[in-house]
Amino acid sequence: MTSVAVSKDYVDDTVTFDSFNLDPRLLQAINKLGYDNPTLIQTQTIKLSLEQKKDIIAKASTGSGKTAAYCIPVIHSILVDSLTRNQTQAVILVPTKELSKQVFEFLNQLTVYCGNLIKTLNLNDTISEQLQMSLVNDSPEIIVSTPAKLISVLEKNKSLNLTNLKYLVIDEVDLMISYGYNDDLDKLTNYLNLKQTTQVFMMSATLNEDINDLKEKFCNKPAILKLQDLDNQNKKLIQYYIKTNEFDKFLLIYVILKLALIKGKILLFVNDLDRGYKLKLFLQNFGIKSCLLNAELPVNSRMHIVEEFNKNVYNLLIATDESNEYDEEDELDKSKPSNASDYGVSRGVDFKNVACVLNFDMPTSSKSYIHRVGRTARAGKSGMALSFVVEEKEWGKHKASSLPSAKRDERVLARVEKSQSKLGFELKPYQFDFKQLENFRYRMEDSFRSITRAAVREARLKEIKMELIASEKLKRHFEENPQDLSTLRHDKDLSKVRTDQHLKRVPAYLLPEGIRPDSKKVGFVPFNNMHKKRKQGGKKGGKKKVDVLKKFRK
Ligand code: AMP
Repeated sequence: MTSVAVSKDYVDDTVTFDSFNLDPRLLQAINKLGYDNPTLIQTQTIKLSLEQKKDIIAKASTGSGKTAAYCIPVIHSILVDSLTRNQTQAVILVPTKELSKQVFEFLNQLTVYCGNLIKTLNLNDTISEQLQMSLVNDSPEIIVSTPAKLISVLEKNKSLNLTNLKYLVIDEVDLMISYGYNDDLDKLTNYLNLKQTTQVFMMSATLNEDINDLKEKFCNKPAILKLQDLDNQNKKLIQYYIKTNEFDKFLLIYVILKLALIKGKILLFVNDLDRGYKLKLFLQNFGIKSCLLNAELPVNSRMHIVEEFNKNVYNLLIATDESNEYDEEDELDKSKPSNASDYGVSRGVDFKNVACVLNFDMPTSSKSYIHRVGRTARAGKSGMALSFVVEEKEWGKHKASSLPSAKRDERVLARVEKSQSKLGFELKPYQFDFKQLENFRYRMEDSFRSITRAAVREARLKEIKMELIASEKLKRHFEENPQDLSTLRHDKDLSKVRTDQHLKRVPAYLLPEGIRPDSKKVGFVPFNNMHKKRKQGGKKGGKKKVDVLKKFRK
């Protein structure tokens, strides 16, 4: 059995999967996944769906087992209903391509013992249009897609008929709304025979008025599930900030990572693409390996990076989050556009076992702060968030490290503090001996200087070229060898900016006293110990060399 990480807080150990009378092929797959008991959301959703055939709106965040909660009843019903084979019976809508792939792969795990009875299709997969058309024409029983992609396929391919659809899942409903998918969802209603034949599942991290409109359009007297324990997860998140200036952020990150002051996997956020590359090159100079995740990389590579990060292949992931959202109350910036896209690094994607979310660049709104820090302390586990906050008076003083959004860091922090305190949480200043940093300043400046704009540009181009090639290889390779993950790593060093090896090692004199090797205990060790040499058989009157083997003879 593979061990799977879901917190005990979520597991409903009063119930077993056997008690739902699920199809044995499905049950066997659940066993293979290593699930002993259902989670709370699974118990409720499976029962309501199978026994009462009700529409369901569930408050469920990633980490609670929500994907299985809707996949299990859908697969079970398709398996037991032999009359409706070879028709598309379920559509699962998700807000991002990454999630689409994630859900698709999960479905494949759950249907591993179903032979050809359940065909699944991910419409967001990067395949040729002809191949996609032929796969759609094959009437896959379950389709996973983002709303926009589904509409574009429906408009092009008239043979995809959803009027008899039995299940419609809208996952991450709150994100669907904030990503502006409302129009696509509206259009979708024209292709469905809702409220007559279709059972609807709507899963959302928050249940607020925003989703009422969708509820009216899609659901028929839905059961609303609000599971109390889901709110408790935030209590396990400890939040810190450090007030600093723009240049010192590089000093801080170097020291924190080099001295391993944070244990476990780190998801580090920057606000623009070039900064991601700059930081990677900067850290690379010190022998600190990291892996980049940004919207410019092909989707296959992005998914592969997330998968490997989840399998603990990498410890440090630098994610570019360019969401540029602004809080409602931020009068100054209301006019600025939000560039939400169907790419979600800070949202939705199931990053596993993240010990720390590190905001190297503070996000631009309290909303995106919540999305970012939500990548840790998931599924009831504990986690830490650390944010570098640039003091307004310090902003713009060091051009080469400056970032426009950092001008408002303190204001964003104030709003984050306000919104977190409403939930009963507080952000604390990170305790750190700033004097110790000074020892490292010279090395930091040395490394920083070497990362010119040209070096960043070159690294960015090379990385994309490499990932594009790798992406194609990946697709083919992992289709054939799903187990083989060692072929393509994403944390390789970027093109060399410099060859200095000395930066990779931290000499003892730079270390803070607490962790410096204690020279007094070792004592003075002369380079040539003549005295000893003489005693142990030097030419002048010493004893003969001891033959260790002879010494043991009786
Ligand atoms: P989700 O909330 O769907 O993103 O799932 C979060 C994680 O929990 C995934 O890694 C699932 O494989 C895992 N999971 C889901 N259901 C169970 C269960 N009943 N027992 C153990 N792990 C589970």
